Amino acid sequence: MDCIICLEGKPGPACKTLLYPGAVRQIVECPACGASYYDPVPPVEEVTRCYPHAYFTDFFKQYWKDLFKGRLLAEDLGSWRPEGVVLDVGCALGTFLAGVRGQGRRTVLGLEYSEAAARAGRELNGVDIAVGGLDAAPWAPASVDFIQINNVLEHERDPASALAAAARLLKPGGRLRLVVPNGPVDLRASADLWRKLGRPVVTRHGGHLFFLSRRALERLLARAGFKVLSVKNFHFKLGAKARGWTPGAYRAFLREPGPLSQDPSAGMSVAELKNLIGAEPDWSAYRLKARWRRLWRSADSQFGYDFEILAEKP
Ligand SMILES: [Zn+2]
Repeated sequence: MDCIICLEGKPGPACKTLLYPGAVRQIVECPACGASYYDPVPPVEEVTRCYPHAYFTDFFKQYWKDLFKGRLLAEDLGSWRPEGVVLDVGCALGTFLAGVRGQGRRTVLGLEYSEAAARAGRELNGVDIAVGGLDAAPWAPASVDFIQINNVLEHERDPASALAAAARLLKPGGRLRLVVPNGPVDLRASADLWRKLGRPVVTRHGGHLFFLSRRALERLLARAGFKVLSVKNFHFKLGAKARGWTPGAYRAFLREPGPLSQDPSAGMSVAELKNLIGAEPDWSAYRLKARWRRLWRSADSQFGYDFEILAEKP
């Protein structure tokens, strides 16, 4: 069968991994676009087994970081479109969106798969959060100015249709910010260990179904009708670790995976969870550090662990 990402190459076996404890699954790699993915794509019932039932205590702990990231985006968008509608896909509690909203006059919308996280987020941040994926988004076509898909596409069962849905939601001239792991680097340790040990291990992040190379990402975006404006590569230290270059880099992969632990947020009220949010850190110090770190994002490299892609709907 042809590659489901580029529609051209003929993927062959790459390695086997543990999708979740006890579930050995085949990953194939396309020689044309460099994409790797589970073949067959796991059914929804299996994908949900990759995640704990509730998982949002961490989102309370990282409240200010998420809020500040939203402020930064609002600043970045200021010179492009000072107003408009911003959608965050996989928005968790919508804290990032609260940051965007607080820094101007924008309307913010969220999409979140976890019903519990969406409910808690509406209460905490007062953001309009719909439950589900891009395919089921309840908003009119061509109604959104800017969409962020941050570490979500690699979890989607059909990334091509997710991007097509994003393109439909955007107004002409609207933009997409896609943050996604550098697929070959993300899969590297699991594939190396499969070759060396001949046995399947977990992947670095549970629930990643697609491991997309830069070429594969550009191909997917073109299929959805996007014009790529910029590609930046970052997280170089993690890139070295993912290649096994640092001592003990692969240790975590060699342990037998245990059952997923239950997140303590299950059964806690939002009022109780709010206690996990610490005092507000200094915004201007955060802003300076974040802007400095961004200078190190590279347009040419494919060494780093993650890509940030900015694309436009013509
Ligand atoms: Zn391909």
